[in-house]
Amino acid sequence: MSTPRNHIVVMKFGGTSVEDATAILRTASIVAGRLHKNLNPIVVVSAMSRVTDTLLAAASFAGKNAREDALKLSDTLRTRHLNTAADLVTQTDRLTALHLAIHHDFDSLDDLLRGISAVGELTPRTEDNVVSFGERLSSRMVAAAFAERNIPSAHVDARSVILTDNHYGKATPDEPAIEAALAAHVLPLIDLGKVPVMGGFIGSHKVNGTDAGITTTLGRGGSDYTGALVGGGLHAGAIEIWTDVNGIMTTDPRIVPEALRVKTISFEEAAELAYFGAKVLHPATILPAVQKNIPVFVLNSRNAANEGTKITATPPPCASPFKSIAAKKKLTIIDIVASRMLLAHGFLAAVFAIFDKHHCAIDMVSTSEISVSVTVDSREALPAISADLSKIADVKYESNKALICLVGEDIRGISGISGQVFSAVSHVNIRMISQGASEINMSFMINEEDVDEAIRSLHKKFFSSPDPTIFDTEAAQVLNKA
Ligand code: ADP
Ligand code: ASP
Ligand code: MG
Repeated sequence: MSTPRNHIVVMKFGGTSVEDATAILRTASIVAGRLHKNLNPIVVVSAMSRVTDTLLAAASFAGKNAREDALKLSDTLRTRHLNTAADLVTQTDRLTALHLAIHHDFDSLDDLLRGISAVGELTPRTEDNVVSFGERLSSRMVAAAFAERNIPSAHVDARSVILTDNHYGKATPDEPAIEAALAAHVLPLIDLGKVPVMGGFIGSHKVNGTDAGITTTLGRGGSDYTGALVGGGLHAGAIEIWTDVNGIMTTDPRIVPEALRVKTISFEEAAELAYFGAKVLHPATILPAVQKNIPVFVLNSRNAANEGTKITATPPPCASPFKSIAAKKKLTIIDIVASRMLLAHGFLAAVFAIFDKHHCAIDMVSTSEISVSVTVDSREALPAISADLSKIADVKYESNKALICLVGEDIRGISGISGQVFSAVSHVNIRMISQGASEINMSFMINEEDVDEAIRSLHKKFFSSPDPTIFDTEAAQVLNKA
């Protein structure tokens, strides 16, 4: 295993941390703070907030021949980027160069949108190309804003570093190739004392014999993943995920405003939470960090003095059973009843082979002698899956379901915990209960419209007297007095 480079810190800033000139200036001063501590930051940025959604909408218009609607959206984005650049950069040459680069990117984007509109067909590959402009633009702008404030930034095109397969829309990174690319393109910059700035979320698929790969993306929310891949590939001392909340909280603060900050949490718990819907982290983020035991911090760019959440291999024990509650919405339950001739063995294998063939992950399974129920969130693959399933079984679907998941390592060995959970939500109709695939979570399926109410009840039950070594109880007291 490579030697850790403790002086390197990967700092990933999400969409709200680069949403406008004010936010980008805050980001610059946070990065300058790390430089003052003699650390070497590498900065990974998301697209400005809501830009990815707008680009996807533009691509979708273009795919339906709605050329003018697509170009109009692109135009609003062009204006937003040009204005933000002007607010950030005053040095004339630098601003001229930045404006030129922004115009160049939007001219290419508009060409692309016209091309898609002309054929009226949007492929996943072209969609990735369209959506990549968000991070390409934000990273360029942030690099220029840093230079303006004497941070020795160097813009790096993420596509030369984050090398992936060609699974457009959710590409799988090639970690050894990324490590080699980081050594070739990023480490030399750090050795020169520069601060590399690159976009998250995007990568490229190299085609043999060509240098410029084809643009890919890592899936929605994938900039966190880029941060972890860069941290893992360089064997950095820390990975910081800067966002708009004080850290990982006991549940989504949009549902429970009095949710508490979790001070420390294990890699396993954080991964489980992310997988089961806590949007604060992309589910794949933790893996590269775990492999090299790199601590990950979740921090608030609007409140940089707050110590955030530390995700680590061995957090201290916690007196409360759970650390956090997550919800994953928009799930479908599929009840699959075997056709007569297939009742014998082989039925389950055949069912799972179908999901596997369509790259569809199953969240929960329950079985009886003649049927199996599974829950999935891959709505796109459903028509193809159901066509295959109907060849071997009778199939029923129930959509608009949600999975509630309570996570905590300390539930291991606590007896009667499920009784406590279900008494807290006795008023809610529970459809399926997890059979405990993982020892650190308890999950169950309910109707989507019951999610907020269930989470509020569970939060009240399990976080009314929180363990102060793990949870930020001081903030709670301030909030209670306010
Ligand atoms: P970014 O753009 O910085 O990547 P995201 O919007 O992807 O930020 O993630 C941050 C949001 O995640 C928060 O604003 C919060 O509403 C939501 N969230 C959901 N669950 C949690 C949780 N357990 N802890 C903290 N935030 C959560
Ligand atoms: N901009 C991308 C998205 O909105 C990636 C990210 O922000 O993490 O999904
Ligand atoms: Mg995010």
